[in-house]
Amino acid sequence: MPLSLPLHSPLPNTSLFLPLSSHPPNFTLSTLPTINLHRRRRINHHHRSLTTTTTIRASVIQYDTTQQQPLLQVNDLKAKIVENGVEILHGVNLTVNQGEVHAIMGKNGSGKSTFAKVLVGHPEYEVTGGSVVFKGENLLDMEPEERSLAGLFMSFQSPVAIPGVSNDEFLVMAYNARRRKLGLPELGPLECFSYLMEKLKLVNMKPDFLNRNVNEGFSGGERKRNEILQLAVLGADLAILDEIDSGLDVDALRDVANAVNQLLTPKNSLLMITHYRRLLDLLKPTHVHVMVSYK
Ligand code: ADP
Ligand code: MG
Repeated sequence: MPLSLPLHSPLPNTSLFLPLSSHPPNFTLSTLPTINLHRRRRINHHHRSLTTTTTIRASVIQYDTTQQQPLLQVNDLKAKIVENGVEILHGVNLTVNQGEVHAIMGKNGSGKSTFAKVLVGHPEYEVTGGSVVFKGENLLDMEPEERSLAGLFMSFQSPVAIPGVSNDEFLVMAYNARRRKLGLPELGPLECFSYLMEKLKLVNMKPDFLNRNVNEGFSGGERKRNEILQLAVLGADLAILDEIDSGLDVDALRDVANAVNQLLTPKNSLLMITHYRRLLDLLKPTHVHVMVSYK
């Protein structure tokens, strides 16, 4: 039976809607409780409404359908690990509309990172069923770099270093590639410099970040900030942030959340994976899902 929380309620504790151990593996969506938080929040001067907190059946993510333009439509997505053939995603469904902020929570090992990596085309995974449509196109047909150029961004749970490539070179190259894709003229060195400085300010990072090699010698927190800098520079229609909170202290988390909030518009969307309640308070999802690992 749907549960309703009063307007002033804090975001639900997962234990409220995720009685993982008490559900048999074969229960259906219709038997699950749904928590509706009827309230509106203000983000970056745009209103986003927190419409649902979901409820999941075995790796299936339930979603709300609204009248908005769907940005991402995932239907019955199944994927396995290439190396050992183990299926991790058993049929995931998710719709993200423009302007929505979705959070995916769930136990370690339930497949959250796998889901995100499959969306961006990570070669460790093979899709074995289902479909993914992004901005009206078949995402699964695209190479990873095409997905990125099309406006899909992902911040990995453990961002990797790229030795020998400086941050500013990397950002300028990637940004100009995206501009070309959008039919915009490339920026010259001076324009790039002022553009990057503006974005550094947004994420509250020092300019010397630009001269360092991508993530080389960066602390965990610096890597996470650097991911948000990349997002700020590249822009995205859908940004997927996998545990962006890990390794961040309270101040850094606030900076990162502020930056992300400033990047949100009614046209773009965010899919964040997190265990951390404080991130939900800061980024104010419109939808919360819980991923469960069993078939
Ligand atoms: P989550 O992000 O929810 O913690 P993951 O998607 O990282 O979960 O992992 C889901 C399951 O798949 C785990 O059991 C994990 O060990 C396994 N897994 C994911 N990727 C790989 C891989 N590349 N090789 C082997 N096992 C993997
Ligand atoms: Mg993970």
